[in-house]
Amino acid sequence: MHRVYLDHAATTPVHPAVAEAMARCLAETYGNPSSIHGFGREAKKAVEAAREQVAALIGARPQEIVFTSGGTEADNLAVLGAARARRDRGNHVITSAVEHHAVLDACEHLAGREGFRVTVLPVDGAGRVDPDELRRALTPETVLVSVMLANNEVGTVQPIRELAAIAKAAGALFHTDAVQGAGQIPVDVDALGVDLLSLSAHKFYGPKGAGALYVRKGVRLQPLVHGGGQERRLRPGTPNVPGIAGLGVAAELARREMAERAAHVARLRERLLAGLLERVPDLAVNGHPEERLPGLLNVSVLGVEGESILLNLDLKGIAASSGSACAAGSTEPSHVLKAMGLAPAALHGALRFSLGRGNTDADVDRLLEVLPPIVERLRAMARGCGEPAGRA
Ligand code: PLP
Repeated sequence: MHRVYLDHAATTPVHPAVAEAMARCLAETYGNPSSIHGFGREAKKAVEAAREQVAALIGARPQEIVFTSGGTEADNLAVLGAARARRDRGNHVITSAVEHHAVLDACEHLAGREGFRVTVLPVDGAGRVDPDELRRALTPETVLVSVMLANNEVGTVQPIRELAAIAKAAGALFHTDAVQGAGQIPVDVDALGVDLLSLSAHKFYGPKGAGALYVRKGVRLQPLVHGGGQERRLRPGTPNVPGIAGLGVAAELARREMAERAAHVARLRERLLAGLLERVPDLAVNGHPEERLPGLLNVSVLGVEGESILLNLDLKGIAASSGSACAAGSTEPSHVLKAMGLAPAALHGALRFSLGRGNTDADVDRLLEVLPPIVERLRAMARGCGEPAGRA
């Protein structure tokens, strides 16, 4: 069977060069980076090389990179760490309705357990935050604003530069969850004007369980974990050296190959979209038409459950998603699509295809061959259920 992986927004396959670097590191670079002997120094060298590679990907200084266990931890360290460290200045945090749960739930925790007030900004039909909404929401008590760079379900890219400037002018720190954007689209922390930025290796062909938080020089955070002095005490514990080395190589490759990869997935996305519009009637495209990730396509097949389509695609060896992987399996419609104001039929029929460097024209064509009959059959079944009993 021709298996097709169209779920790169959930996670990406590890790049062979990353796997090779990690295997070598695992086998040979086993010292503790905190040890002063040669074995330790070699491990520290590997960690510091990765720090430089990650910094280069986002235009940061190496000493501003804090390694974490991934995007979720980086988001939590940013949101909880910044809010708690600035508690004496105010108790108001602002975020958006389309954030990943790593941010939303951290904010909810602050509101429910730590006496913060949280404002959740709405988005428009394309999933974008209106900068004027942020202007209106800011108060002298606002200590942190967290708005994601690119959305994981619809791929919409937010006007971060503008939002960050507004937040900074009001004296608030600005965090962006760039887990879906970093490694896919150009990111420069100075050009964006952000104070904190999260990224995760497994979204750009690195390993799972390795990520980083960019912390602008001078920004104070309270650590989530207490222990040793690693990562400037912001993330104590013996670091995951092979994971960090893998993150570094993945960042380096992403930086070098970004334009080429983006052009490749953008072309495949166009092919996929054109084919779907031609072959699947009653299809709506979700997200922003221009301000979006190059390789992500979210559509709604009206009148059909997205989950049913996914199960049928899976039987044919094709992997896609109905939203975020964490929400998949639950029948609750996506909070992102709900915030964008989609009608119920569009909410329930949503499908996310996310393309990657390994995908080919043949992969797209296979989907275009398999999907239309599945949709037709499910629509016929839905019509059948609605028909009066006794009819053929
Ligand atoms: N933020 C966004 C936008 C994501 O898409 C994800 C991953 O699904 C995360 C955060 C969490 O990252 P991780 O899986 O590395 O914990």
